[in-house]
Amino acid sequence: MSNVVPRGKVYVISAPSGTGKTTVIKRIKEIHPEIRFSISAATRNPRGAEVSGKDYHFMSKTEFMKKVEADEFVEWEEVFGNLYGTLKSELVDTVIKGEDVILEIDVKGALNIKKQFPESVLIFLQPPSIEELIARLTGRNTEKPEELERRIARAELEFSFSDKFDHCVINNDLDACVNEVLLLISKPKTFGGNL
Ligand code: 5GP
Repeated sequence: MSNVVPRGKVYVISAPSGTGKTTVIKRIKEIHPEIRFSISAATRNPRGAEVSGKDYHFMSKTEFMKKVEADEFVEWEEVFGNLYGTLKSELVDTVIKGEDVILEIDVKGALNIKKQFPESVLIFLQPPSIEELIARLTGRNTEKPEELERRIARAELEFSFSDKFDHCVINNDLDACVNEVLLLISKPKTFGGNL
């Protein structure tokens, strides 16, 4: 990667499960539909209305490992037993065209990106407290108890990485959180509001 001179900016958003990252990102996409989000490769099954090529590039573990061998990833990690990775075609091709790109990846992937793109901006979204996060995860009732335990343990681990990020944004109030992230990615809301 050292021969790549990034021109667009790289922003990375990480958040423990249950922080409300999906809602925050959805709002950002509504306000700035032109922002380019990297679509990761993933080996898990699509959930709900998720679409391959839009939410993730869903693929089998065999296909994923073929891409690993062909050196098609900037980074990849195993999360909750599934493989997730940022494709060079999503990230490198975009920044060399001069476009900014946002990655929504886990904390280890974020630090890996920082090593390769020292100018990248790492943003950590956090819930007001770990207790609040546990309450949110439990309240959404989407996971079996075993899975819930796993997500809580993972959230605690992710939390411990927060001091390695350039910015931490607390998701206490959705609008305030979205506005803060928009300022960090140099895309303030250009209408209404109090910015
Ligand atoms: P989910 O299955 O809930 O969509 O994602 C599970 C975790 O994988 C989240 O923490 C998400 O940020 C992370 N993730 C998604 N895509 C990537 C990726 O390309 N690389 C890495 N390292 N993590 C990813």
